[in-house]
Amino acid sequence: MEIKHCASCGRPFERQKRFEKNWEEIKYCSSKCRQEKLEKKQIELEKYIVHKLDGVSNICPSQIAHEFYGDSWRAEMEPVRCACRRLHQKGVLLITQNKKIVTSLNFKGPIRIQKKS
Ligand SMILES: [Zn+2]
Repeated sequence: MEIKHCASCGRPFERQKRFEKNWEEIKYCSSKCRQEKLEKKQIELEKYIVHKLDGVSNICPSQIAHEFYGDSWRAEMEPVRCACRRLHQKGVLLITQNKKIVTSLNFKGPIRIQKKS
């Protein structure tokens, strides 16, 4: 089964009939993700996450959301988790659950992130 990771949300998605015509060019898992693309804010968020990982062994994404978005952080957890998935996929950081590196980016539940050594 061929799998790609969405350039927006970072989730894995499989090759399907609806992608058949142009699978090589497909970057997003859904039309929602294609519309959102990667806005400047998302790129800034990725940089911020990488910066925050300096000098700590691991960190909770909610802390990043809190510091990056301020009071509206609860509503912004999904963008932070999406950025974590993209960075994990790029090999910049590692997403862990219960101190183990996740085996799929379709994880559910709380995560922590750590720098890739
Ligand atoms: Zn997506």
